Amino acid sequence: MVNYTYNDIIMSLTEKLTEQGFSNATWEARELAGCALGINARGRIDGKKEATPEQIKSCALLLARRLSHEPLQYIIGEWDFYGRTFDVGPGVLIPRSDTETLIDAAKKLCGDRKGLKVIDLCAGSGCIGITLEKELDTAEVYCVEKYDTAMDFLKRNIGQLESGVKAVSADVLDRAAAEGLPKADLIVSNPPYINAEDMGRLQKEVTFEPKEALDGGEDGFDFYRGIVRVWADRLEPDGIMLFEIGAGQEDEVMEIMIQAGLKDVRVRRDMAGINRAVMGKRIEQGNVNLYEQLEKRG
Ligand code: GLN
Repeated sequence: MVNYTYNDIIMSLTEKLTEQGFSNATWEARELAGCALGINARGRIDGKKEATPEQIKSCALLLARRLSHEPLQYIIGEWDFYGRTFDVGPGVLIPRSDTETLIDAAKKLCGDRKGLKVIDLCAGSGCIGITLEKELDTAEVYCVEKYDTAMDFLKRNIGQLESGVKAVSADVLDRAAAEGLPKADLIVSNPPYINAEDMGRLQKEVTFEPKEALDGGEDGFDFYRGIVRVWADRLEPDGIMLFEIGAGQEDEVMEIMIQAGLKDVRVRRDMAGINRAVMGKRIEQGNVNLYEQLEKRG
């Protein structure tokens, strides 16, 4: 009987992945092996150690899933976002590094404010809301999510990361749900934003992710229009609305926010230099009722 060491397994996985054209084969092989061997691949793998038959079988199963283009993140069941590890799996959008742009933007916009009330819409795994709760001085953070499977991941992540975030099961386009929450200093969302044409030509891996988390309607802007309509007046004075956007969507989303009366509307780039976040502020119209003020003065 041939004995295989952990290193043999990693080499064989790398070979198979390379053969099938996976570009980060060595790194993926380590992640898959780490998972099959019951070790976090980001920890240490003792290459000389011999694998058990169960571990070898488990590696083969994980490899088969990856060769079918199931996302690596679903196979290993977790992914890192802004320095913390979130549970993920089928039914919830995988946290992406692009989305970390929202966290940086929020920190820049609200970093010196205390006791913030924050609402994360279309929260999915909770990576945005939970991270903001940890990174900002928050009083209350709500994560609003409509779908049950995503909600399960959200609750798990709240528990695991010992977060005080409150999970709210609701449709973000439901005005009654919005009115059931307190007004917020920051409303943040990475809504579904892929347009109908692009939904038809998704990368194979992305087709494993929930359509509900990706599909932004015919032109991709359904959720920006809907969220701004329902939530713009759920901002406190000086409250900020902050969205993730897809490449090339900035003009339209800025326009939607400006039309809704939000001020100081601007964009922020991600690390690849793509405009990735759009933000706007609710500014109370001061001195609107000039007559009333004059009357009061007598
Ligand atoms: N960033 C994701 C993608 O391009 C889309 C996520 C979303 O629609 N919010 O695959």
